Amino acid sequence: MEFVKNVIDTGVVDTGRVAGLSRQIITEMNSIAEFGNVLFSFDDLENMVFKTGEPGRKVNPVLQLSAKEALRAALRDNQDKKLVINSAYRTVAQQHILYQLHLKGIVGKAAKPGLSPHEDGLALDVDNYPDWIRILERYGWQYLGDDLPNDPWHFSFDGGRGDIGNIGVKAFQRLWNKHNSDDQIEVDGDFGGETAKRMNKSPSDGFPLFRLLKLTTPLLEGEDVRVVQEALVEAGFLDAGKVNKFYDTETVEAVEAFQKDKGLVVDGKVGPNTRRILLA
Ligand SMILES: [Zn+2]
Repeated sequence: MEFVKNVIDTGVVDTGRVAGLSRQIITEMNSIAEFGNVLFSFDDLENMVFKTGEPGRKVNPVLQLSAKEALRAALRDNQDKKLVINSAYRTVAQQHILYQLHLKGIVGKAAKPGLSPHEDGLALDVDNYPDWIRILERYGWQYLGDDLPNDPWHFSFDGGRGDIGNIGVKAFQRLWNKHNSDDQIEVDGDFGGETAKRMNKSPSDGFPLFRLLKLTTPLLEGEDVRVVQEALVEAGFLDAGKVNKFYDTETVEAVEAFQKDKGLVVDGKVGPNTRRILLA
């Protein structure tokens, strides 16, 4: 498995390598109840192309809603021109990589994770910016490229909820905690050393959708355990009365019996193979 640290160690600037992790961070940002939906996909807008090919790898096509709606209006009213987008939203994982490469002298200038304007969903880098400066400025998108020698195509939308960099950091901290029950970190929206350490250890394709179920102290508990227990009941390896959402010794024994029966490695753990066959 490739981790964020491995991506940094290549010394190559390719934030698309953490596209999977980035998608999970964006989804998590939109699922923090106190903030509501913060980022909206804009790849449904017409009259616009992504320079780097399909969005989703190098470019995260999301913006805050007011920024998206202003862009929609600008594109709708100027259909004789095509907007070519270099970059839009950057997740805290991508900014972490850029910042680390900056510390190594590979990237000229980079904000600390959580602090880049590209992490707010209010920034767009437009490849053919000379054609769009006057237009976009009429719709609330300020051209800032004059002041940014490394970023001559940079536009910033004035509005929305402003800086949401801390929400991105919180989303990552929550995501880490969800997938690392034995290594919980503080969810404070501040990208400090402890958070950076976990970012380095995060899989670049994103966290596996299912956690590995195994015997632990305290016992793993959750809906995922219940689903496995019910499948074991269905398959005749566990008593219905033992379904309790805890991955306990009875469940381990039932899993071992199931694995033996199916010719799987008998380890009493539910990983991808056992899960696929058990829940098929
Ligand atoms: Zn920019």
